[in-house]
Amino acid sequence: MTKYLQFNDEDLHIAGEIVRKGGLVAFPTETVYGLGANALDPEAVKSIYVAKGRPSDNPLIVHIYDKSQLNEIASRISEDAEKVVSALMPGSITVVFPKKSVIDDCVTGGLNTVAVRMPSSKEALAFLKSCNVPVAAPSANTSTRPSPTTWQAVKEDMDGRIDALLMGSDCKVGIESTVLDLTGDEPLVLRPGIVTPKEISQVLGKPVRVVTNPKEKVNSPGVRYKHYAPRCPMVLNLDGNRDKIRSFYDKCVKDGYNPVILTRHPEGYPDCNTCFLGATDREVAHNLFLLLRRCEKQYDYIIASYNGDDEVAFSILNRITKSAGQNIL
Ligand code: AMP
Ligand code: MG
Repeated sequence: MTKYLQFNDEDLHIAGEIVRKGGLVAFPTETVYGLGANALDPEAVKSIYVAKGRPSDNPLIVHIYDKSQLNEIASRISEDAEKVVSALMPGSITVVFPKKSVIDDCVTGGLNTVAVRMPSSKEALAFLKSCNVPVAAPSANTSTRPSPTTWQAVKEDMDGRIDALLMGSDCKVGIESTVLDLTGDEPLVLRPGIVTPKEISQVLGKPVRVVTNPKEKVNSPGVRYKHYAPRCPMVLNLDGNRDKIRSFYDKCVKDGYNPVILTRHPEGYPDCNTCFLGATDREVAHNLFLLLRRCEKQYDYIIASYNGDDEVAFSILNRITKSAGQNIL
């Protein structure tokens, strides 16, 4: 049985106790909901992988509420890392450090590095504080599904599989944190997010490279696994060609589907099921996973149309192409 908890002192205390005793608690952050366990308890951490059906070599992010906890986890904090920690934490950025041995291999998928994040969400910080241990947490969805951005989405995937769910606010950002690796010769963005390479580069005073080639041997598991996928077939259009989208829609209908077009076009498509993605890239990021989960319930084919050329758009494209399983129209 999963306990449904609220953000009051009593329930936060219960949540903290569950984590300290080795249980699993889902909690809100500003990016997406996380599924947390005591990062210092390997058995608890292993149960995260079971609850999610997650491959065991896909590492977790360790969440902290106070920067002083970093010294417990990271064996070295480089000058660059100091700069990023002081300028961008708390925030929607995860930094990869060399790990201390208190962090078991099961947290890091066997890597000798550990990814650490201090969220900016007040609710997340209150939960982490009440745990008072570093909390290992991936997104609180079943593996391969879109990340949950509301507590109701966590319930869909995790009811009965976890000890408790903190019913907090909807996530403001809507896509997962930027993952920044500072353990090598050059700063690398392993996963793009709302904190952009330009911002990081300004903080570091040097260029930051974004890893885009999946063949490059870095541990950015989002690249390796099926990810963010709705339950129904999905296709992505990148050129905004309305005729092409319309005729694909008509073909779906002819084939017996009840399709929907996800679009940024304010007027949508006449006589078609349409769903508005958002007016700005920030809005699209906020809505994307929520809409995929909504559309898979109402329709049985998702035709998404999206493009953009700034850094936030790049992060959205990273997610939405995976949602569509690289299926491009
Ligand atoms: P999730 O929160 O479900 O998106 O999963 C956490 C993600 O953080 C992983 O899929 C990786 O992309 C990243 N990550 C965690 N630990 C590390 C690490 N030590 N090195 C590189 N990336 C990591
Ligand atoms: Mg995830």
